[in-house]
Amino acid sequence: MRGSATGARPDLEHLVPEYIKAFQPYIPSKPDDVLCKMLGCPRLYRLNNNENPLGPPPAAQKIIAGYPPPRAAIYPSGDAYHLRCRLADRFGLHPDQFLVGNGANEVISFVIKAFCQEGDNIVTADRTFAVYEWVALFSGFGAHLVPLRDFDFDDEALLERVDARTKILFVCNPNNPTGTYWSEQRLRRFLDRLAGRQIVVIDEAYAEFVEQADFPDGLQLLADYPNLVVFRTFSKMYGLAGLRIGYLAGSREVVDIIRRTCVVYSVNGLAQEAALAALADHDHIPATRQLVAEAKAGLTAELDGLGLSYVNGEGNFLMVKLPMNDALAYRRLMAHGVMIRSMTGFRFPNWIRISIAGPQAMSALVEALQKVLSNDR
Ligand SMILES: *Cc1c(COP(=O)(O)O)cnc(C)c1O
Repeated sequence: MRGSATGARPDLEHLVPEYIKAFQPYIPSKPDDVLCKMLGCPRLYRLNNNENPLGPPPAAQKIIAGYPPPRAAIYPSGDAYHLRCRLADRFGLHPDQFLVGNGANEVISFVIKAFCQEGDNIVTADRTFAVYEWVALFSGFGAHLVPLRDFDFDDEALLERVDARTKILFVCNPNNPTGTYWSEQRLRRFLDRLAGRQIVVIDEAYAEFVEQADFPDGLQLLADYPNLVVFRTFSKMYGLAGLRIGYLAGSREVVDIIRRTCVVYSVNGLAQEAALAALADHDHIPATRQLVAEAKAGLTAELDGLGLSYVNGEGNFLMVKLPMNDALAYRRLMAHGVMIRSMTGFRFPNWIRISIAGPQAMSALVEALQKVLSNDR
């Protein structure tokens, strides 16, 4: 009989909020093996996610290799207790000033849930890490997007977009994908002008790559700015992207609020232990920085040779402008076994972002670019 409860389709028109109807879902790329089969490439260099080609530090690799399988049956520490203690030691803060998440991606949601309610908005740049904007929008909040200025976060314009319903400002420092950064002086001036009326998030996903003397350490600024929240991740420098672990830090007062929105047990035990080991390593950061510096020098020389313009800032990535559509370039480069990030999704049409990797991957990229640009398929 039609219309009976069993098998009736859900009334989505009525069930789904308008902001969900309006939201375009992000479609992740297919797994490597599927892509390779589709595009006919024998080997794939992944230069799309800013992963560390050196992998995790050796001490973390040892933890991963030796992880006792029975431990998989046991719930992990629900609040990453030991890791928070180690972070507190390392950075001179209190363990309760840290919240660990399933990647820094998860802590973005924690903060937005903690402070935004219906009618509120966040302020960030139009061309930055998109997850701040996405979480705000699919949660039913506004996202005020401020254009970059010379590829950089525009402090004056950000302040102008703050209104009575703005709860959080997100600044990515250095910015993904442009690599620009604010100096400590500039960040302090910005925080001084907001004077605690909003929460300011500084996303420092790439902080460990930056060697500039005037680059601010957000964790050290927490003492002066109790409305500041700092994001860090183990995915980039520490090579643990696959285990999904990142964290936020803030004043105890602010973190006590954000903690209410955390889902306990979202960070697995292996990730917690590998992160602990990774933090203790002393050689991994300099070795990675050296690899990135050498590879960037080589790659920029090649790009100059190809007559391509690029934005080479901080971080283990580089943005390149192509004389062609970036989605097409993505497909053609894939056919040569090189995966880059096409940038239309970041509102940079005809640009690609390249993650910096070792000599073999960089040569493969340059060769593939040459072929694609000469239209040699
Ligand atoms: C990669 C990245 C993150 C999130 O990384 P997780 O893997 O979720 O820890 C956050 N912000 C920026 C700018 C990033 O590039």
